[in-house]
This record gives sequence, structure tokens and C-alpha cells, in this order.
Amino acid sequence: MAAMLRCVTRFAPSPTGFLHLGHAHSALAGWTRARAAGGRFLLRLEDIDPGRCRPEYATAILEDLRWLGLDWDGPVRVQSEHLEEYRLALDSLAARGLLYPCFCTRADIAREIAASGAAPHGPDGPLYPGTCRNLSKEERARRIAAGEAHALRLDMARALALAPRDLSFHEEGEGRIACRPERFGDVVLARKDAPASYHLCVTHDDALQGVTLVTRGEDLRPATDLHRLLQALMGWPEPAYAHHRLLTDASGRRLAKRDKAATLRDLRAAGVSPAEARAMAGFG
Ligand code: GLU
Repeated sequence: MAAMLRCVTRFAPSPTGFLHLGHAHSALAGWTRARAAGGRFLLRLEDIDPGRCRPEYATAILEDLRWLGLDWDGPVRVQSEHLEEYRLALDSLAARGLLYPCFCTRADIAREIAASGAAPHGPDGPLYPGTCRNLSKEERARRIAAGEAHALRLDMARALALAPRDLSFHEEGEGRIACRPERFGDVVLARKDAPASYHLCVTHDDALQGVTLVTRGEDLRPATDLHRLLQALMGWPEPAYAHHRLLTDASGRRLAKRDKAATLRDLRAAGVSPAEARAMAGFG
């Protein structure tokens, strides 16, 4: 008899603010699935962006989740403590000629796009026009040796040539969904100011931690196309996906970190009980 995969889910917030009801919904989506299946629920702090993440938010996240009544299995994975692992993944892509250094500033890119007259957009914004893709080996080496700041971009055309043509993912309740990672263009996998990007770290960690079901907001669904490409290139296993609805406020606007009233801390301070907060987050 084939061994059944144990259900492993995770909640992977970025400590850039206090958790609100939308996060509670996301955390509960993963937690209830794992607990119902006798599986594992993991907590990961995606704190690789030094400009936006704060340790006090990380501490608050753990506190707020405990208050909500959630527990997690094993230690919390803190991405900033594993930068070397992400570098190794980048090295593996670079060794196959799939990355190139990009020296462009935001202004350079905007100028280039304006001059070209065409501005195709992907899920993360305007597509990179490819300026640095065409630099010679010598020029790249010279500018890196001169200490010029650079990001690392995925050469999408090369990546697609190496990956299976019919990439897809399994979305719970829908079945297989075809992927179009080319929509992202030459996406940044290591930023000038951060050693690796969200896309690289999240797929790396889902694989490393044996996540079998990714539960996360519908807003991240387009990113799954790119994550499947990275999984294929790196030989990482493919989890299933369950993208959930995004919670909205009374006026129908999506909850965001700026909406302070909806933070779990404020609800707690206002006398809301954990059970009431869970119900407000859609898990009553
Ligand atoms: N760290 C991401 C965020 O806070 C979520 C990553 C994921 O669930 O894939 O938006």
C-alpha cells in the first residue's frame, strides 16, 4: 500500500507589522487543516527584508498567535538565520547560467521602459526590460569587481527552456491549474538590499520543511506559477495549494496592516476574547 503523505501546513508571516484578522484567517486555515488531519502545523517568519521587518513585530506575532489559541510544531523557522542556505540555492541556479547580475536602479528601469514605449505588466509590476541581460561577461565582472550594487535576476527564457513545458499546480477544490511563469519576466531572486527574494525563500523553505499543503491568501495565487518553476528547476517537491479568500472590512476593502483597528492586539485590548476573534476571522 502506498504510504499516505502526512499533512504538513504552515503560516509564514513577514514581521512588518502587527497581525490583523486577515492573518488570523490565514493562520487558522493552515492550523485547522493540520490538526484535523493529525498532521503538522509549522510557523515561519519571513524576515529577509531588513528594511521592513522588525524584531518587535516577530515577538508580537508569536504572542498574538498563542493568544488566539494556536500552537505549532517544532521550532519557529526564522529566515534571516538561514541566509547561507538561500545563497546555495542561488549558486545552483547561477551555475546553470540561469541568473544574471542586474545593476539597474529603479530610475534606470523606469527610463528604459518609457523609452521603449511598451510596458508589459506582470503580477509584481512592470516587467524588467532586460537591460542587464545583454551585458558581456567582462562588463559584469568589471562592475562587480568595482563593488557596484547589483540584484540577481532569473533569466526567464533560459529557465523556461530547462523546465517542463506543462507546469501546473493542484489547487484544492479546482484541480490542476496551468502555470504561466513567463508573466513575471526576469524576476529578481536576490535584491540589492536583501540577500534573497520572497519567491526563492518561500519555495526553498516549503521544500525543506516538507510542507504538503500551502494555505495562503488568494493574493499570492499568481506567485504560485513562479514557485512551481523554481521547484521544477531545483528538483524540489510539489505541495498542493489552497488559496483562501481575503478578509475585507465593512466597506469591502481588503484588510491590510495599515488598518490598525483590525489588529489582534487592539481587539484583545478592547476586550474581545480569543474565541470571538477566531469567529471574526471566519473560524467560529
Ligand atoms: N510572507 C508572506 C506574507 O506575509 C506569505 C508567504 C506565503 O504564505 O507564501 O505575505
